[in-house]
Amino acid sequence: MTPSTAAQALIEAGRWINQQGWCPATGGNFSIRLGDDRALVTQSGRHKGHLTEQDFMQVDLFGTPLTEGKPSAETLVHTALYRLDDTIGAVLHTHSVPSTVLSRLTADDWLSLEGFEMQKSLSGNQTHEESIRLAIVDNTQDMTALANTIEQRWHTQPLSWGLLVRGHGLYAWGRDSQEATRHLEGLEFLFACELEMRRLGAR
Ligand SMILES: [Zn+2]
Repeated sequence: MTPSTAAQALIEAGRWINQQGWCPATGGNFSIRLGDDRALVTQSGRHKGHLTEQDFMQVDLFGTPLTEGKPSAETLVHTALYRLDDTIGAVLHTHSVPSTVLSRLTADDWLSLEGFEMQKSLSGNQTHEESIRLAIVDNTQDMTALANTIEQRWHTQPLSWGLLVRGHGLYAWGRDSQEATRHLEGLEFLFACELEMRRLGAR
């Protein structure tokens, strides 16, 4: 995939994500892997609903800039994910209300979800009957520490589809931007359902 094609895919994803209200106030960041040793990432401080090709830059898989620009601090989480799993081709990090609230309501290191048909939107799931678990890590402003925590969690047990950062938001990933977008949409739907169940006292 060329940098330009990758940028176009993320520009389109950003417009749609912004319409859902999942990246307010320049929050969030997106990336696509470009081969074995680099990724295209959004630059710091750009609004994700109004991205242009100039809002992207390339970094190596340790977050070091390879082209002009200032990468977002959270780039280190994206590049850690690319190093941990070479099947990950795209990462979308968003700050939605459901992911922010639900991760604060859950004290555990995992969010468990079961009984929802939408679980099948997450690759590898054929049924609503099994419980799925999404990792939650505590928030910090130290992105090197956050990336290290995720690496340690991963080595204990590889993670699937995405992870929540408590009180902060969601990292969703996939083989490519389409699969990452489907995982993002499926997870957000599940978060909204789970929050509604808890609001109604059904959990
Ligand atoms: Zn963030």
